[in-house]
Amino acid sequence: MTKFDTTWRATVLSIFPDMFPGPLGMSLAGQGLNEGAWSLDTLDIRSFTTDKHRSVDCPPFGGGPGMVMRPDVIDSALQSAKKTSPDVPLVYLSPRGQTFTQSKAQELASGPGITLLCGRFEGLDQRILDSHEIEEISIGDFVLSGGEPAAITLLDACIRLLPGVMGKAESLEQESFETGLLEYPHYTRPQVWNGHAVPGVLISGHHEKIRAWRQAQSEEITKRRRPDLWSQYAETHV
Ligand code: SAH
Repeated sequence: MTKFDTTWRATVLSIFPDMFPGPLGMSLAGQGLNEGAWSLDTLDIRSFTTDKHRSVDCPPFGGGPGMVMRPDVIDSALQSAKKTSPDVPLVYLSPRGQTFTQSKAQELASGPGITLLCGRFEGLDQRILDSHEIEEISIGDFVLSGGEPAAITLLDACIRLLPGVMGKAESLEQESFETGLLEYPHYTRPQVWNGHAVPGVLISGHHEKIRAWRQAQSEEITKRRRPDLWSQYAETHV
């Protein structure tokens, strides 16, 4: 019995299952895991091998550097994950995937959970991707040594959106990307620090002025740092 009506189910397939929950076992995500806001199953891809060397990878046909993850082994691991978690989206973390966004995190967090396949070496045999319904997601235009840190990143972004995981729902609403803008700057005590005072409007107690100041700051910072986001926002808001 948990205090949550439903548990968001995360299943992770990896040759390094001990990397999980890792950072997700701490702080808000860890508390959510203990309390049943989400659950975690890890499947060790190596346990689906059938040869005596327990090999998950082989050299690529056609030559070239590196090793490729074998389709037969990955397929067995996927079949097993589908049995225990049949109705959740299946995602392969891959630099060739669609870039992960806050709206994708929202979409995934509002579903029943996710199964994540973490690649290693040069990645997966293409036939696995062609024969399963797998969505490829990238966490950015850079190359990691494995899908695990990407899986942890994606899960973190989803888990903090689950009901009851973060204290105040409104602190989620005002964040970067939620409004289409980057967030305004924050200030806390002391009111004067190293000779720098907090912007006067924030201690004015005038809520409407504070709101307008923050909105203007958000717009300014987005224009300056992320012209791509700004032009999208400007189309609908300005
Ligand atoms: N040869 C591949 C890179 C393989 S990196 C290529 O050039 O596209 C090894 C594994 O790390 C991948 O299979 C993938 O699971 C993971 N990975 C690397 N970079 C990633 C990224 N930006 N986003 C998500 N997963 C990534």
